[in-house]
Amino acid sequence: MQEKPFQPDRREPCFCGSGLRFKHCCGSFADDRKPPHGVHVIRDFLSAEACKQFVASAEKSTSTWLKVVDPERSTAAKTVYMSDPRRVTERVDMNAHQTELNRLVQQVVHRFIEPEFADKAAWFEKPHVLKYTPGGYYHMHADSQHMDPQTGTWSKTLDRDVSMLLYLNEGYSGGALRFDNFHYTLQPEAGMLVFFPSDHRYMHTALPVATGTRYALVSWIALKMPAKVCAQAPSSAIRL
Ligand SMILES: [Zn+2]
Repeated sequence: MQEKPFQPDRREPCFCGSGLRFKHCCGSFADDRKPPHGVHVIRDFLSAEACKQFVASAEKSTSTWLKVVDPERSTAAKTVYMSDPRRVTERVDMNAHQTELNRLVQQVVHRFIEPEFADKAAWFEKPHVLKYTPGGYYHMHADSQHMDPQTGTWSKTLDRDVSMLLYLNEGYSGGALRFDNFHYTLQPEAGMLVFFPSDHRYMHTALPVATGTRYALVSWIALKMPAKVCAQAPSSAIRL
């Protein structure tokens, strides 16, 4: 299924149903604005102590630079990976804490995501800790959909309905989360939980880290009701 880009008229009523114009609501440029409809921000979800423990563990762990599939050199028989300047991130090996991290995401799903989306989760993807050092960046993207550059339309390519991020530390500069369609930029705080729909309306950018290191836990949730686009669940799926 293909979808047109999300381009609300700034003078039209906001898509959230508030009755305000988009420019005075979810598309506002005001500094003191609220997060757009659909973006949930829960401060102090994780205690400072728990954050510190995960960060201390991440600092001692090995990490791997994330790579993307190289479409030019990959064949049906062999997938070739390459580094991509649009995504500069390391994945931290958190083996010792993986069970705890899984349990944490499961709590988020039951406590916040299922009630908010009025659906049960089918699975969540094994959570990872991502590490962004100076220059670390992830260009504008949607988590479940890809845009065809020829037609400008979006299609769902991954069975993800909700994206979640749990920020684990502070003490870096840069590294904000920007929702480009809403002109909304969120400065992460240690312990802050953020979740939002994975579709293209909520395409986002992890702005470059200037100094310091940012750690964040990430996972993606597939709900039961939406039709699935892939033949099977991803290999990293943890079923509920
Ligand atoms: Zn609104």
